[in-house]
Amino acid sequence: MTKKGLINIIYNNTNFSINTAKYLKDRLMGFGYQVSDHFDFNAELVICIGGDGSFLRALHQHGFPSIPIVGINTGHLGFFTEINPNEIDDFLEKYITQQYTISTINPVQADICTRNDCIEALGINEIAIKGDKSRTIHLNISVDEHLIQRFSGDGILVSSSTGSTAYNYSIGGSLIDPRLSALQVTPLAPINTNAYRCFTSSVILPSDAVIKVHPEYHFEDSIVIVSDGLEHRYFGINEISLKMSELEINLLKLEGSSFWSKAIEKFL
Ligand code: NAP
Repeated sequence: MTKKGLINIIYNNTNFSINTAKYLKDRLMGFGYQVSDHFDFNAELVICIGGDGSFLRALHQHGFPSIPIVGINTGHLGFFTEINPNEIDDFLEKYITQQYTISTINPVQADICTRNDCIEALGINEIAIKGDKSRTIHLNISVDEHLIQRFSGDGILVSSSTGSTAYNYSIGGSLIDPRLSALQVTPLAPINTNAYRCFTSSVILPSDAVIKVHPEYHFEDSIVIVSDGLEHRYFGINEISLKMSELEINLLKLEGSSFWSKAIEKFL
């Protein structure tokens, strides 16, 4: 048997995931692969066992590595995950015979600037800008230096095409076919009254758009930035600049896998 490369297996701590990881590890070693269950940057592939939440956390925890990644769904929804636990043998055959493609996605990048500093945050699905402690916030929003509106409400969410099926979808945003590289700005409970007017539906922007958000002065300390469910709080935020990151995440897709068959299976 020829010695093959190194594969990282990352799994959450449910019994189902632990047992799935054990089975996968035995099968991979049987084929001559080396297997690590600690993240090793020399690996040729990362296999993440869990749901979408585990998949997102693995990418955040390991600094958005460029090593191809694929998920096995032992979680709930599993929109990111390509494989069900009962399909592991079929997956291994396809992996060994290279019946897969690598699909690249770019996260949303937020440069969060206070008076002293700018801090970068990345979101695979989205970056949300929300009122802290349930407060209404007022945000001036510009696209490519054109002020498009003063937003009032719970906040806004800037999602990638990949993230269009996640939080974005729950708040009334559109599903975007990931072959279309776009940014989507979706309002969270926008106020639309005689006192405040703002957009009530999503705005879809090209991949090179730059969105600048300036919280009104009184709200600089009352906003929270949430990237894929992780909260960031800073004092005196005066600008958040959002765009599509140049960083590329490589998702392994099995032949025959399609966004629309998954959307139908998971949502309809
Ligand atoms: P979480 O519990 O890890 O995830 C919440 C739900 O969102 C889970 O069912 C998860 O699938 C699903 N999900 C995640 N990414 C998805 C995607 N690209 N397409 C379709 N569904 C997806 O929640 P969290 O740790 O707070 O945040 C992680 C992500 O969950 C966020 O990026 C956000 O998009 C989403 N979220 C959604 C809502 C909402 O819809 N109201 C609220 C908060 C967060 P699994 O069951 O497979 O893990």
